[in-house]
Amino acid sequence: MPYETALGRYFDKTYTEIDFIKKTYAAFKSHGFHDNNTIAATCICRDEISQSLRSVIKHMWGEAFNLSSLAGMFTAGKTGLKAAMHHAPVVDGKERYIFYAIPHIAIEADGRLGICCREGREEESTACGALNAFQKEMASGKLDLTLHGDDMEQSLLKTRLLRDIPYGHVPDLLELTKITQAAIQADIEHILEAVIQKDKCDYGLAAGIQVHGPKANYVWPAACYVVVNGEKIELNI
Ligand SMILES: [Zn+2]
Repeated sequence: MPYETALGRYFDKTYTEIDFIKKTYAAFKSHGFHDNNTIAATCICRDEISQSLRSVIKHMWGEAFNLSSLAGMFTAGKTGLKAAMHHAPVVDGKERYIFYAIPHIAIEADGRLGICCREGREEESTACGALNAFQKEMASGKLDLTLHGDDMEQSLLKTRLLRDIPYGHVPDLLELTKITQAAIQADIEHILEAVIQKDKCDYGLAAGIQVHGPKANYVWPAACYVVVNGEKIELNI
């Protein structure tokens, strides 16, 4: 199956990552957020092929606080989130934050999910490698759920995502990536709810999945909204 067919089959709507950030910037701007009064924060995988998205965010919003762990998991927790919030400019008595929560998956030129080619390496590679390793471990029928001191991020990823996977079910990489996207978003929202002062802080969240193609990266938008003066407003992008 050609790449474009696969992209359309697995994701109902995608933008190039530049268009995605431009559209979200415009949507957030219409509710008072812009590069001079807002700090952006990101949950995007550590993988170098994901960093182009952070570069576009930097171009539009300035340097963004990095909350990301492997696969873009949000393990920075209350301490990380509070730090990002305390770094926001205070303009007219308000702090403003924008969160981008975007894990990733690759689609190869022939439409295979999870496969990508990397510069200077002959063999095929996978993305997201952390999610692929977890998926393979589930498929093997034997899961190691020890909290390994020398593999903390992957240990935490597995225990967190298992909460959202029905017992005994082995999702494929696409389903696992969508579960991850929802988990990252839910974790940010959960901690935000606990720490934010809604009379002093407005925020927005854009969630989705970054899709690597043979020639370009795309983003599937999953959710986009702002909370202004304590009121949640859904944004259509
Ligand atoms: Zn990854």
